[in-house]
Amino acid sequence: MHRRLISYATMKYILVTGGVISGIGKGIIASSVGTLLKSCGLHVTAIKIDPYINIDAGTFSPYEHGHAHKCLLNVCIGEVFVLDDGGEVDLDLGNYERFLDIRLTRDNNLTTGKIYQSVINKERKGDYLGKTVQVVPHITDAIQEWVMNQSKVSVDGDGVEPQVCVIELGGTVGDIESMPFIEAFRQFQFKVKRENFCNIHVSLVPQPNTTGEQKTKPTQNSVRELRGLGLSPDLIMCRCTMPLETAVKEKISMFCHVEPTQVICVHDVSSVYRVPLLLEDQGVVSYFCQRLNLPVEMRPRKMLSKWKEMADRSDRLLEHVSIALVGKYTKLSDSYTSVIKALEHSALAISYKLEVKYIDSADLEPATLQDEPVKYHEAWQKLCSSNGVLVPGGFGVRGTEGKMLAINWARKQNKPFLGVCLGMQLAVCEFARNVLGWEDANSTEFNPDSKYPVVIDMPEHNPGQMGGTMRLGQRRTIFKSQNSVLRKLYGDVDHVDERHRHRFEVNPELKHHFEEKGLQFVGQDVAGERMEIIQLEEHCYFIGVQYHPEFTSRPIKPSPPYFGLLLASAGKLQSYLAKGCRLSPRDTYSDRSGGSSPDVDIAELKLPSLS
Ligand code: GLN
Repeated sequence: MHRRLISYATMKYILVTGGVISGIGKGIIASSVGTLLKSCGLHVTAIKIDPYINIDAGTFSPYEHGHAHKCLLNVCIGEVFVLDDGGEVDLDLGNYERFLDIRLTRDNNLTTGKIYQSVINKERKGDYLGKTVQVVPHITDAIQEWVMNQSKVSVDGDGVEPQVCVIELGGTVGDIESMPFIEAFRQFQFKVKRENFCNIHVSLVPQPNTTGEQKTKPTQNSVRELRGLGLSPDLIMCRCTMPLETAVKEKISMFCHVEPTQVICVHDVSSVYRVPLLLEDQGVVSYFCQRLNLPVEMRPRKMLSKWKEMADRSDRLLEHVSIALVGKYTKLSDSYTSVIKALEHSALAISYKLEVKYIDSADLEPATLQDEPVKYHEAWQKLCSSNGVLVPGGFGVRGTEGKMLAINWARKQNKPFLGVCLGMQLAVCEFARNVLGWEDANSTEFNPDSKYPVVIDMPEHNPGQMGGTMRLGQRRTIFKSQNSVLRKLYGDVDHVDERHRHRFEVNPELKHHFEEKGLQFVGQDVAGERMEIIQLEEHCYFIGVQYHPEFTSRPIKPSPPYFGLLLASAGKLQSYLAKGCRLSPRDTYSDRSGGSSPDVDIAELKLPSLS
């Protein structure tokens, strides 16, 4: 142990702001800083601030009455990330959960909408005694209070209050939307005292082809802007393609009024796993220890060695495994991020390089053959040449027939298949149509008049609320069978708690028809009314889950359904199971995991390419 006993009640806040442009990896950098401090034995939490006016990232209120056609809107926006408490939040919260192996709540995602809503509610209740309510001080006070309260919420599942809170402010400094937040933190730094608050400013150092020189001007400008608003950067983290030249570092130091050691180079690296290591190499941990007076020894604990191991492994992968991701691809969507991460975690755990073959399911449909035959044949070529097939969650009828065609192919060809949420529902529809002979079997979401409604509307009815709500957040699934593959992959547990986001479900009344023909419902909810996991007999790996296991996948703890898909696709599932699985429900990477997911000890999965 490289750590003395810590006993202080003071929270340490690290605010991460962005300059120049957004989308340069601020979230990854903020998560990596958190990871470093967690490696020192500290309890770390994170808050993401999105200065937009929406209340959350869900497209319609889960309290909305009426039917799911309203959620067609979901088709038009990017994916959301779902938390245990059902919070539909920004994808960045997924970064924090994955990097820090923590579990956040909806209030860890703060938006302008949420702050204004809370202030307006207070105003309506008369809490401001009829005074004029203003951005300063009312909104800014509410922001500070929110951050202070939320930073204390335990995220490790052990009830321990965090010691460090990383706060990521979305967007770039100078945006109109983020002004109240910047002002709130300007005041906050004095309120909590200097030794408890610091700022990381993530900036861009471009290197235009014309001269090939690294340019510091955008960084100078954004730091000036930040200072003008009353915040001084403690670390300037420079995103760049190549390592920063010494002269460039010195220039930034001089013009931005910081020591050269406070200029950190975050150049492009081979994988995200390298980022914490890159920061550690530049003394970021010792800087924080001094600046924030953190009573920890300098060397991050064992956990960081796992990151090194993952980074090295990821650089050396030789063998490929390809997964067809049969989904819906719209121009606007930043779809399937969590799904792809989950696939990557599993591929890395078995030392394979992941190749995702993106297939728009509508391209597999006969109508495409007529209109665009090349597209159709290309899509089928991609599908047929993949090692495994994944049909992810989704909303809306477009492409559902194509997804069923892909599922049909995987079922008949004995190709590894995983259906997630909508993917599982469509696997049930496909089976009903082609095995049970129920011709127009469908989900009532897509055909309310189907003669065989095998998937039906089953919203949750919560007391005190009108109408049914979408089933959101963590719910329990009980394993009904001792020999289900998934049960083994989860570490031979009786139940699993996974996150949900759906409204439709397999019609429980029809269950026996499927089971008689070999499609087993091996996991159900506690009451036995909701079908959670399907498994097809006599198939190498044909699994469907009503929940979204991707939301709890971690680099060091891949999600078991995805892990099974990757093992099967690499032709290793049988030998893995025969060896008694190296999965255990205990987390060997962190002493304080609150997760129920089992652990794949990557160090133990020795594969030739690593030796
Ligand atoms: N549209 C389906 C439902 O509402 C599936 C949702 C999903 O895949 N997340 O049940």
